[in-house]
Amino acid sequence: MTRYRSPIVLMYHGTPDSKPESHYSIRASLFAEHLRYLRQEGWSTVLFKDLQNPESLPEKTVVITFDDGYEDNYSGAFLPLMTNGMKATWFIATDCIGGHAHWLGKPSTQTRMLSSERLSEMHAAGMEIASHTSSHPDLSMLSKEQQQIEFSKAKAVLENLLSTQVTSLAYPFGKFNADSVTLAEQTGYRMACTTRPGWYDSEPNPYMVRRIAIFSGDSASTLARKLNFADNDVSWKKMTRYYAGRVWDKLITQF
Ligand SMILES: [Zn+2]
Repeated sequence: MTRYRSPIVLMYHGTPDSKPESHYSIRASLFAEHLRYLRQEGWSTVLFKDLQNPESLPEKTVVITFDDGYEDNYSGAFLPLMTNGMKATWFIATDCIGGHAHWLGKPSTQTRMLSSERLSEMHAAGMEIASHTSSHPDLSMLSKEQQQIEFSKAKAVLENLLSTQVTSLAYPFGKFNADSVTLAEQTGYRMACTTRPGWYDSEPNPYMVRRIAIFSGDSASTLARKLNFADNDVSWKKMTRYYAGRVWDKLITQF
């Protein structure tokens, strides 16, 4: 039996029911296959904030996260998660609630964002609604003061909307600097995640949590390999190199 290293954090974006316009989005029907796979393999889903108490987590734990908060996540992800008794965390850019993901360029149905009513409903159903800053900037280009405003404003908007404490944050575009890490803590967040791939337990700083990105073409078997290797690139080409490397390591350690 394969022994899984866990917890592991996954990053999804849109879940449209037609062909995804973005490499980071995945068709709703394929997302449903991911959920089926996770359920069949006995994975438990927890919220990102549950990582604050890692000792209480089940043995095979996956944290499903969604960045940005696309409107198509409601029917493509939230409802199927509910049907399967699973949980996920959404990172919301609060200026864009009910609007469009302006950083993607031309608006389309796939750039539409969840409304505040949807977010309230999802929160009430047990999902975590967390912060992705207010305007989705490249934080590494902002001053300390500007970053602080982005973190505090988004937190206040969501706390006001949901009447709950918001303690999780995801840096937009995965871009951040040393100030971001310090300010995330100073503005009251308990944890923050990046887009750096890798194992959860390989990063000691709770404000630099690693996540594995899911791309539009990722089948359930690609997901399986991502859960096994905690890497964004699990192509067969790379896997072959990995196994060849292991065989080589074995050979050379014999001499
Ligand atoms: Zn984003």
